[in-house]
Amino acid sequence: MYISTRDNYPAVSAAEAIKLGMVPTGGLFVPQDIPVLTQDELNLLVGKTYQEVAAKILALYLDDYTSGEIAGCIYNAYKGNFAHKEITPLHQLTDSTYILELWHGPTAAFKDMALQLMPHLLSLALQKLKVKEEMVILVATSGDTGKAALEGFKDVPGLRIICFYPYKGVSQIQERQMVTTEGENTYVVGVEGNFDDCQNAVKALFADEAFRSFLAEQGFALSSANSINWGRLLPQIVYYVFAYINLIKEGRIKLGEKINFVVPTGNFGNILAAWYAGRMGLPIHKLICASNENKVLTDFFRSGVYEKNRPFKQTISPSMDILISSNLERFLFEMNGRDAVSITTWMKDLQEIGHFAVGETVQKAINEILWAGFATEEQTLATIKEIFTKYGYTLDTHTAVGMKVYEQYVAETGDETVTVLDSTASPFKFTASVLEALTGSQLTLRDSLNDRNGTTEEFALLKELSRKIDMPIHPALQDLEKKPILHQRVCPKGKIKQEVCNILKLEL
Ligand SMILES: *Cc1c(COP(=O)(O)O)cnc(C)c1O
Repeated sequence: MYISTRDNYPAVSAAEAIKLGMVPTGGLFVPQDIPVLTQDELNLLVGKTYQEVAAKILALYLDDYTSGEIAGCIYNAYKGNFAHKEITPLHQLTDSTYILELWHGPTAAFKDMALQLMPHLLSLALQKLKVKEEMVILVATSGDTGKAALEGFKDVPGLRIICFYPYKGVSQIQERQMVTTEGENTYVVGVEGNFDDCQNAVKALFADEAFRSFLAEQGFALSSANSINWGRLLPQIVYYVFAYINLIKEGRIKLGEKINFVVPTGNFGNILAAWYAGRMGLPIHKLICASNENKVLTDFFRSGVYEKNRPFKQTISPSMDILISSNLERFLFEMNGRDAVSITTWMKDLQEIGHFAVGETVQKAINEILWAGFATEEQTLATIKEIFTKYGYTLDTHTAVGMKVYEQYVAETGDETVTVLDSTASPFKFTASVLEALTGSQLTLRDSLNDRNGTTEEFALLKELSRKIDMPIHPALQDLEKKPILHQRVCPKGKIKQEVCNILKLEL
């Protein structure tokens, strides 16, 4: 069963938690009991395929799904849509550093790992719960989630998906990926605001009971595909286990040996999945939480004070440009001994005054498992160049933030533990910045990020990058500029509710 982090809702089944997305009265669903993966079970997984590992992990969390249903979902999610047969291959960089490539899916970013699977879990949940309403999936995206969700939900019967992104706040390639999405049930809206504006507006709609009952009367129900949905988090636990057993298989570590994971972090979903893997029994020494110049998490983990009142920066790792990390609530719930009362107070403070403080005990509990740091824009670019020059391996901007923070971690701690760095996007997804890092020449970076009507420069750069790093363009990004633009909606940040009504052809 799944319970609310704010103890304000009855416990629900996995299907119900996935259907609801977040707790209707505020708060997030977490598993009431975190299942255990014993060392024996872990050992038995060595040599298994990604799909087999996924079946094992999912079954531990979804006891209202049959093993046949789980197998079907996994089959559909990871059959031909991934460009690598291992799904998430490990690339060895040094004796002790490995890169976990999470971007071989259909949109070239790690969010495919969850979003190729989650719609199947949701669609089954709706059947199980005999839901009659048409589900409307609302997504707020900082760039990558949007396309990954659109691809995952495209043409799934009984569902529509509406995706909000910060207009002029994502890369040209990210935007083009979204606005060329096909499917009868997909809608894409540029919002005149930043990612937090999009996310807050979507959260407000979920919390708006009058609006929800109005929709229900018209035959619609809302759900979310953001990483606050348990159905998004669960599939991400799988690749941490898979990476670990692959290191055993290759003879790099022994069963039971602890390793580190470095995670380029935004909404705190990916790193939280690593934490769940650890709590289940996966031997983890440290989780290294890497931020860009929007370093609200680094400051929080170092001071115990979460302060969102600060300037929002648009960076070259836009999928991490976040000032409110939604999944942190789940982590804090586990770190404070599951005390829903303080979670409720902290989240209320965050919403009303923009900050909260967790106190020494919680901070200490966090620091035992987690180390946080951030990389500046210059450091990120320099790291891409450095790793390419030293190892001939190309990092995208987000992964480079992770690499830089890992270097800082090693410099500060001297830790030599085997470490896996999550690579969250293909370098081709952020071509302009990667090329700028490699060539040192100032490309029209800012312009291509900001100017919707600018040249198609970033697409031409794909070929240039491909030549430079001697690697084929990621299949998801080939011929993108030739695809027709199918979505043109733009709305002010205060008008998101109205936009939803327009799309559903409803009068408020
Ligand atoms: C979403 C995203 C992140 C951040 O992941 P969270 O789960 O939100 O912390 C990092 N890198 C890339 C490329 C992403 O798309």
